[in-house]
Amino acid sequence: MARTEGIKDFRCYINGEWVGAQSGETFESHDPFTAKVWSRVPKCDARDVDRAVEAARNAFDKGEWPALTPSQRGHLLRKLGDLIARDADHLASTEVQDNGKLYAEMRGQVGYIPQWFYYFAGMADKVEGAVPPIDKPDMFTYTRHEPVGVVAAITPWNSPLLLLTWKMAPALAAGCTMVIKPSEFTSASTLELMRLVEEAGFPKGVVNVITGFGQDVGEAISTHDKIDKIAFTGGEVSGRRIMQQASVNFKRLTLELGGKSAQLVFPDANIDNAVKGVVSGIFAATGQTCIAGSRLLVHESIHDEFLEKFLALAATARMGDPMEMTTQVGPVTTQPQFNRVLSMIDMAKNEGATIRMGGKPADRPECGDGWFIEPTVFADVKNEMQIAQQEVFGPVLSVIRFKDDDEAYHIANDTAYGLAAGVWTSDMARAFTAAKRLRAGTIWTNTYRAVSYMMPFGGIKNSGMGRESGQDAIYEFLETKAVWLAFNKDVPNPFVMR
Ligand code: NAD
Repeated sequence: MARTEGIKDFRCYINGEWVGAQSGETFESHDPFTAKVWSRVPKCDARDVDRAVEAARNAFDKGEWPALTPSQRGHLLRKLGDLIARDADHLASTEVQDNGKLYAEMRGQVGYIPQWFYYFAGMADKVEGAVPPIDKPDMFTYTRHEPVGVVAAITPWNSPLLLLTWKMAPALAAGCTMVIKPSEFTSASTLELMRLVEEAGFPKGVVNVITGFGQDVGEAISTHDKIDKIAFTGGEVSGRRIMQQASVNFKRLTLELGGKSAQLVFPDANIDNAVKGVVSGIFAATGQTCIAGSRLLVHESIHDEFLEKFLALAATARMGDPMEMTTQVGPVTTQPQFNRVLSMIDMAKNEGATIRMGGKPADRPECGDGWFIEPTVFADVKNEMQIAQQEVFGPVLSVIRFKDDDEAYHIANDTAYGLAAGVWTSDMARAFTAAKRLRAGTIWTNTYRAVSYMMPFGGIKNSGMGRESGQDAIYEFLETKAVWLAFNKDVPNPFVMR
């Protein structure tokens, strides 16, 4: 796939128009493979947030959108899914140039994204209220599910299109309108997606995108009293701040935060499959996923054999241009993240972890000037070390031994996070026990990194709250209203509540 030559200028999408920031300012975005500027994006501030929120508010309260039937909303979502499928190559290569994700992965991911739009399109007209039985005479009651209102979607840099889709598809199916703020490092693919929102025929103001930095645009969103809900994916620090600021008007929140997920390899595991699953869990997407299996817990009886096989496979990783279909490990997405990962590697060395692979920037001709770090493996890690407790968000694995199942579950759960865990075993009883005892939102057994529009995704503890994907996700964007109708005319005593 070819990269865009020269510098591309992007504009925000507010109320169906392509506009710059009111200040006229822009900021630059870099291609992580070349480390060069490839695009310029409007640097919005609170004034632009006001403008986008007003557009979304108007579109929610009056006009075409609230007048559409749920089936008509579903039809628009299906159309958007079709357009994404049509333009999958272009969306994928935009993401690769802005983010450094592998084209080999992005082509599959963008090809899959329409399924979320089709799935929630199908749900739009299947949200049913209830007619609960009631303990009062001459009373009829029912419930309605109504859209929560204006939803702000705040997304991170690691998987901009997919993580936006997880919010957009159910929010629009529910009948909400949206203000979207992509990460300041990766705004391009979200803005390209808006061309398709426009082409699909969504009414003006239903979907708006403003670009800029967390402290300017993000904070103006979290504190805005005309936004009803924030659907956020990002780091723990930002998530905590958003939760505090969202309390100004008690905004509803979905928070998808970080992780320090464990992969548990038991002695009865199919070792070759487990090796592949652990490699994929930590080195796919260069470890820049919230679900990275960054702690490997191996039973002591197979520890050495497993580690040797794992290191042998990891050593074959082909690094290089993420646009090439044959590349297996791409660059780190941003320069600050590149520096952060290297400093965490130093921290682990100082803590006494044994380095078994990598531990430095990649010095390979095929990596050019990009922000590459060698796949890195630390052995002899103790779970209380910072390298085992802090999220690295890079290609760095910590290997820890365990003696028995109880100890494995204890170590796996001994973390502030609870996003995911991987279990490798051929014993069914152990698989079910592990699924019960591990405290995380997703448990993968003999597989890792699988996601689907049909399965709920989200974390417990410091990994966040709420779920995306699956049927429940649409209810994150709905409020339940209780309706009471009395059909007796007699009010016996107005001073006593019935
Ligand atoms: P980040 O928290 O720095 O930024 C995420 C978004 O929040 C960006 O758009 C940013 O501009 C915005 N933001 C920052 N401060 C804000 C504030 N005070 N108010 C409002 N918005 C603010 O995260 P990141 O570095 O872009 O992404 C990496 C993090 O995201 C990692 O911790 C990773 O684990 C997490 N993540 C979680 C999931 C999940 O589903 N659980 C998925 C992907 C990434």
